[in-house]
Amino acid sequence: MSNEKFVEVKNLRKVYDNGYEAIKDVSFSVKKGDLVCLLGPSGCGKTTILNMLAGLLFPTSGDILFDGKSVVKTEPKDRQIGYVFQNYALYPHMTVLQNVMFPLTVGKNKIAKDEAEKIARKYMELTQITDFANQRPGSLSGGQQQRVAITRALVQEPKILLMDEPLSNLDARLRLKIREEIRALVKKVGITTLFVTHDQEEALSIGDKIILFNDGVIQQDDMGQNFYLEPNNYFVANFVGNPVIDNFEVELKDGKLVGSDFAIDLADFDQDRFKKNLDEGKYTLSIRPENLKPVEHGHLSVKIEDVELIGRERILKFEHDNMQHRCLVDLEQPIKAEDQVELQLRLDRAFIFTPEGERVY
Ligand code: ATP
Repeated sequence: MSNEKFVEVKNLRKVYDNGYEAIKDVSFSVKKGDLVCLLGPSGCGKTTILNMLAGLLFPTSGDILFDGKSVVKTEPKDRQIGYVFQNYALYPHMTVLQNVMFPLTVGKNKIAKDEAEKIARKYMELTQITDFANQRPGSLSGGQQQRVAITRALVQEPKILLMDEPLSNLDARLRLKIREEIRALVKKVGITTLFVTHDQEEALSIGDKIILFNDGVIQQDDMGQNFYLEPNNYFVANFVGNPVIDNFEVELKDGKLVGSDFAIDLADFDQDRFKKNLDEGKYTLSIRPENLKPVEHGHLSVKIEDVELIGRERILKFEHDNMQHRCLVDLEQPIKAEDQVELQLRLDRAFIFTPEGERVY
């Protein structure tokens, strides 16, 4: 069947029993062998989607196809899915080997113990947990338990691997290491993977593509860099990027975008980037912090309140219209707190949004 649409979700909706519409008309597809991140803030519906894919929740309407066949009426155990939960859900009284073998030794497709052990050990080799085979999960670190959970999901050789915030119980440094390991592992096994996270940096680093949700609706379904360079709307521009994007409230009047203490000719913007002709009225002008440049004569003059060092760069913090703003500069830039600075806004890299969040530039 189609490798382009190995997983296909069509017009999926989920209304919970209390009447809450958690998923509203969501459609997307995943290529065979791809690692796709479902990204979004807490409560946006990521887990609801995973649970419908796994068959743990029944959709209100819409369809889910694996390899071209609808699975909505297929029992969870027959969907050939591996599911790694946030809390790992390992059996504490079993050893690592017993945990990994477990799915192979129960149910109608169970196989003989020695055969199950052979398969378990093959995958344990791959995830490098063979040394802990006879230990119980309680004696392992978070990262090691995570690997056991993944190995247990892989032994059944599922067609699709679902991972729900698998790194959230690990400390920051370990998260970086394990996310690299997960990507390397799923690529080596070649398994199609949907990975849920609320962490944009994690999604950008691990995903072949990212699907960003908010309020049960897809905001953007794209390659990582496009969320940064070409955000679909105000929500996307503000959700992705660290430090966060700078927003300036402006009004379009007489061909100028007028802020509280600056005015920029619309003619100064890159005309090819306008998505439509703009009516006069209120807009938000949004610019990523590295596209605010300290210069001699700029668009606006601000007083720097604080300077923060982040590795090779520095963040200059300032207030404008009672909103916190950030400007990202090189480490060598000598600007310090209390300095008055002129800032040039890089208009060819800016975005303009309507009050409803629609991107018009
Ligand atoms: P998190 O990252 O916090 O886990 P999420 O994006 O995975 O969030 P979901 O768990 O899918 O979000 O929940 C989506 C929305 O549906 C939330 O507003 C949640 O409160 C609501 N919800 C989840 N389960 C139920 C339920 N059984 N009944 C009613 N509402 C629910």
